[in-house]
Amino acid sequence: MVPDLNDAKVQRLLKKINSKYEPIYIPVVAESYALPNECYPNVEKKVELDGGSRIFGWQIWRTTLICEAEFHAVWKSHDGKLLDITPKSPPVESILFIQDDSVTYNGAQIDNIRINNTNNPLVNDLIDIHKALFRIRNKGHRAFIYKGTLNGEEAKVYRNLESIGSILQSYIYQGGQIDSFCFCGSGFRYAECHRRELDSLILRSKSV
Ligand SMILES: [Zn+2]
Repeated sequence: MVPDLNDAKVQRLLKKINSKYEPIYIPVVAESYALPNECYPNVEKKVELDGGSRIFGWQIWRTTLICEAEFHAVWKSHDGKLLDITPKSPPVESILFIQDDSVTYNGAQIDNIRINNTNNPLVNDLIDIHKALFRIRNKGHRAFIYKGTLNGEEAKVYRNLESIGSILQSYIYQGGQIDSFCFCGSGFRYAECHRRELDSLILRSKSV
């Protein structure tokens, strides 16, 4: 969801981003030619058609567990107004956005910045899974295309990480802690069971 700017977790994430700009809410008015998740070419086309300029920064999202900043391009009109022209799913009327000129966009995907909203270290595991999935999805030339194909071992590691991520998320919502019995029913504590499995998968995600 689009978060409240006064939310303490959101403020912590903004501190981590450390931009010299002020965060603002920007209206979403999707252009008919704009594709979801393709903000960079969408805005490029808008500038070609209508002038103005492309502005880079972060759109901020929040769930109960994680606050997340997603690198994003928006359109700036001649009179200096910012507009998000990329359609969202599910649709939202506005986004929370902070301009940031310190990140250079060269066509390669940029990973989200995430913080743990809770005191539960399992949420850090969830964040590590997101990072590993990003690393695999954007390895080498794949960083320059929105959806590349995964093969063999990397596809297997990716699927396993995705599956553990989804189970782990439900487990956290159900109150799972580092020393609770593992979700897999082995009778071992999470730390001695799927945490270890996860560590080894994350290690493999760096070498596949
Ligand atoms: Zn387990």
